[in-house]
Amino acid sequence: MAASECIFCKIVAGIAECHELYQDDVTLSFMDIHPANEGHCLVIPKIHYATVFDMPPAAFGTVASTAAKVARVVNEVLRPGGISLLQANGELAGQSVLHVHVHVLPRVAGDDLLINWDRTRNEGQRHDRDRIAAIAERLRSRLHE
Ligand code: AMP
Ligand code: ZN
Repeated sequence: MAASECIFCKIVAGIAECHELYQDDVTLSFMDIHPANEGHCLVIPKIHYATVFDMPPAAFGTVASTAAKVARVVNEVLRPGGISLLQANGELAGQSVLHVHVHVLPRVAGDDLLINWDRTRNEGQRHDRDRIAAIAERLRSRLHE
């Protein structure tokens, strides 16, 4: 998708409206138009990157820094039960807008948002530890290249 077709790029350019919360040279934060819970907002880089894999890791660090700043204020002002910071890459991961964004998502008791998978899922499978170690080794060697 061309950046010119991207709704978040249109918001950055001032062509589309948003309820802006904060901006600096490289990031912008605004309210999510379809909040999953009250106070749900987003933080984006002003440059169009479709996914985190398309941007330098340090640029994502700047987005994460703004997300932490916004989350702190949401927490202090709205006093939710908790806050989830979420960022999806690819349709399978739940990404519907192909411009990197971090969700700042206040949580409410019993909201049952589907990101909360059962932590005991796959527990007790015998191959778990060997398999975890093998995957760790594959990842570790690439991270140190
Ligand atoms: P995701 O599904 O993780 O890609 O999240 C995209 C988010 O962007 C959803 O929560 C949408 O509600 C939100 N969204 C889409 N269009 C707009 C818009 N024009 N202004 C604010 N939020 C939007
Ligand atoms: Zn964009």
